[in-house]
Amino acid sequence: MIVLSKTKIKIDYSICGDGNKIDPRECAICMKVCEPALFLLHQSLEKFENDNQYDPQIWRITPLYPSLCTHCMKCVEGCPEKVITVTW
Ligand code: SF4
Ligand code: SF4
Repeated sequence: MIVLSKTKIKIDYSICGDGNKIDPRECAICMKVCEPALFLLHQSLEKFENDNQYDPQIWRITPLYPSLCTHCMKCVEGCPEKVITVTW
């Protein structure tokens, strides 16, 4: 029987990334503490209020491969803004 992971990892982009309060390139604690390394730092392609959705200075972190998550909660505990939630 195949058991599919139900792990969901979310980041509040209204605070971290997308040109908001925290620039993830300057923090990136979640990326450093995650042993399976499932976070990806990349330029954001979201549409912004200034219509400059391709601004090369706008970045975000996306959690990939949630099935690799060990539920260690190091990212949740280490995030200075408490914007990460991990549920399963
Ligand atoms: S809970 Fe642990 S394994 Fe899962 S994303 Fe966070 S740091 Fe990585
Ligand atoms: S640890 Fe939190 S504030 Fe820092 S980059 Fe990751 S999600 Fe953003």
